[in-house]
Amino acid sequence: KVRVRFAPSPTGALHIGGVRTALYNYLFARQHGGDLIFRIEDTDSNRFVPGAEEYILESFKWLGIHFDEGVSFGGEHGPYRQSERREIYKKYVQILLDNDKAYIAFDTPEELDAKRAEIANFQYDASTRGMMRNSLTMSKEEVDALIAEGKQYVVRFKIEPNENVHVNDLIRGEVVINSSILDDKVLYKSADELPTYHLANIVDDHLMEVSHVIRGEEWLPSAPLHVLLYRAFGWEDTMPEFAHLPLLLKPEGNGKLSKRDGDRLGFPVFPLEWRPESGEVSSGYRESGYLPEAVINFLALLGWNPGNDQEVMSMDEMIQLFDIHRCSKSGAKFDYKKGIWFNHQYIQLKPNEEIAELFLPVLKEHGVEAPFEKVVTVVGMMKDRVSFIKELWDVCSFFFVAPAEYDEKTVKKRWKEDSAKCMTELAEVIAGIEDFSIEGQEKVVMDWIAEKGYHTGNIMNAFRLTLVGEGKGPHMFDISWVLGKEETLARMKRAVE
Ligand code: GLU
Repeated sequence: KVRVRFAPSPTGALHIGGVRTALYNYLFARQHGGDLIFRIEDTDSNRFVPGAEEYILESFKWLGIHFDEGVSFGGEHGPYRQSERREIYKKYVQILLDNDKAYIAFDTPEELDAKRAEIANFQYDASTRGMMRNSLTMSKEEVDALIAEGKQYVVRFKIEPNENVHVNDLIRGEVVINSSILDDKVLYKSADELPTYHLANIVDDHLMEVSHVIRGEEWLPSAPLHVLLYRAFGWEDTMPEFAHLPLLLKPEGNGKLSKRDGDRLGFPVFPLEWRPESGEVSSGYRESGYLPEAVINFLALLGWNPGNDQEVMSMDEMIQLFDIHRCSKSGAKFDYKKGIWFNHQYIQLKPNEEIAELFLPVLKEHGVEAPFEKVVTVVGMMKDRVSFIKELWDVCSFFFVAPAEYDEKTVKKRWKEDSAKCMTELAEVIAGIEDFSIEGQEKVVMDWIAEKGYHTGNIMNAFRLTLVGEGKGPHMFDISWVLGKEETLARMKRAVE
């Protein structure tokens, strides 16, 4: 059975790259009828940030990514927070020690620094462990005595040198590295009675029956070590398959995307606004006015495509089309303008009622209270002009508030000598219209213009000025229809006064 996991460390806001990793895991799980696990990797207490876990959960809720089990979701493989699994890890560390796959080391940070100063490119490994203070160079009595004394130690993985380690990656194919370049990684620290990421990650993936590890490229260098750990435990047969996703790159393509790029170019790198206890507030996609569907669609295509030109895809379509083998090996440029384009697309795709609902708070901010039906109508007429809901106000405020002044330039250009007279006449004509539908008005007004021999453009320009206050807006009779006869006449009257 396919079982995948998203396993963030709660060290701060969730980066948009992490969201993409979670999304690919989600798509993969769904298309295989598998499970997606939410695990919190919080064994590094120094980097723990309060509120981060809640932030991450809220982000996925907003984005519509659902987990089947894990922290806050429950499940049979818990607990899912690593800090609550100490006893489990202790047991597995002991198994490695008992089988001579790991050893205890007492070297203090000062001693390690001294060795680094003494030996160029020092690496704690098969070639150097013999000169260090560890259970391989000390007698059992000595080791036991130090531990009994309360001396702090770490447990290191005993990596055999000169062996080619093969990692099969679903995206990159076979990656081979020689074990000699790996150091004897620290797996456990007595000081906090917790394992390091590497040990906890392997033990949990095994016990949680994870079938595929889909994660960021930054973990590729650790993959050989992980393969060796599976082997040391005798778990090679059930070792998960690996897929390392390409990095997200700066919009210019020169290097890894960072928060500073967002600040520099004005786009968020976090799903939700992040307010740390200390430090600056960072903007989020939600607060910046993005629709979650647009963010998901945008991210899905950063590192994968369905093999044709299709860009706008619902979550269900993506679940159908996603193919882990089609993920690219090379980094994906973070083209944030494409994100804006997707937002525009989703505003068009969504029902007007839904967009109107989202527009209501903006109207309220401007002190406008309007019948919902009217908001829906206006949204339908104007939404193709915007990429963000808040931009709707700029393009359609005149539907809700009469012009307080008339744009000078437009007046100069379009308000002719006889405009006031014509508008007074037109107001009378409009007052008499019985069928105030768009077509009904158009017919009566056009007949009147023809009968009088007026210039259609001049009349329409002046009419627009009276209702809108400037030269913009949709079709004239759409505007007067939405405003209604009474409001149309009131605005016309005010304009000629
Ligand atoms: N805790 C790791 C992270 O924060 C998880 C890496 C993995 O998926 O193995 O990215």
